[in-house]
Amino acid sequence: MSAAQQACLAAALVTGYEVLGRGASSVEAVEKTIRVLESSGLFNAGIGSRLQLDSVRRMDASIMEGHRLRAGAVAAIEQIRHPITAARLVMEETEHVLLVGEPATRFARHFKLKLDRQLSPKRTSFKAVRPRQVSGPTQKTLDLYRVMRIRRTVGLETVGAVALDRAGTVAAGASTGGIALMLPGRVGDTPLIGCGVYADNVAGAVSMTGVGEGIIRIAVAKEIADRLAAGASPAAAARSVLKKLVTRIRGAAGALVLAPDGRFTIRHTTPRMAAGYWGGTGKPVVKDKFER
Ligand code: ASP
Repeated sequence: MSAAQQACLAAALVTGYEVLGRGASSVEAVEKTIRVLESSGLFNAGIGSRLQLDSVRRMDASIMEGHRLRAGAVAAIEQIRHPITAARLVMEETEHVLLVGEPATRFARHFKLKLDRQLSPKRTSFKAVRPRQVSGPTQKTLDLYRVMRIRRTVGLETVGAVALDRAGTVAAGASTGGIALMLPGRVGDTPLIGCGVYADNVAGAVSMTGVGEGIIRIAVAKEIADRLAAGASPAAAARSVLKKLVTRIRGAAGALVLAPDGRFTIRHTTPRMAAGYWGGTGKPVVKDKFER
């Protein structure tokens, strides 16, 4: 973790904590925290999002609250600076849970969400394929994908947050530019409720990062939430589900897990994961290695 990333994580935690301190909802805290990270360009989300193999940035995000189990998500959205806000708008302004692709982008623009020039396809700098607008894999991108997927695990820095507000409602959110070297149109776990995020006031809130293909196949966030609801502690629930992910399908992931009583854990199967929390010390704790 660079000093800039560390400072940004601390600033994001301060933002979220101030929102909760004002008595606002955990949904608001999660959204505002993630917006700080999306704006930074220091993580793989918002303006820092990765390119797909056709040189287009397509982003995914989701948010869920644990009182009424409302959820909203966007997948393969383009050019929008804050996909997490688009996800919240899907949750609060529609009866749907997930909007995808160009219609999701138009939906966000309808609500006047900021576009970012850095996210415009014409301004990308990936040299392997000339920037162009294609909507699906071509022979060229498939060839590139096959050659390069071996290096897929380079840096995975999706952003996410979990929070508990004064009313006792938990919320979880996540926002990503996906993984390295993905085919155009690939969607990971992040916008899939029960995979990348889950929140239920009788269980807790979970936000995931890692290789989405594995997280989806285990439905990790819901599986952790189910174990919390059955009485496991956040640490035990995260430990057992991450172990299942690794042993059954050789997956790799990190989890933020928060119980409705405020107990929480941060766990990862990878050597490092940059994350932070408020530990009652007056300032946020930010580290890139947590108990494994
Ligand atoms: N989970 C994200 C995805 O698969 C990537 C990440 O967490 O870094 O799209």
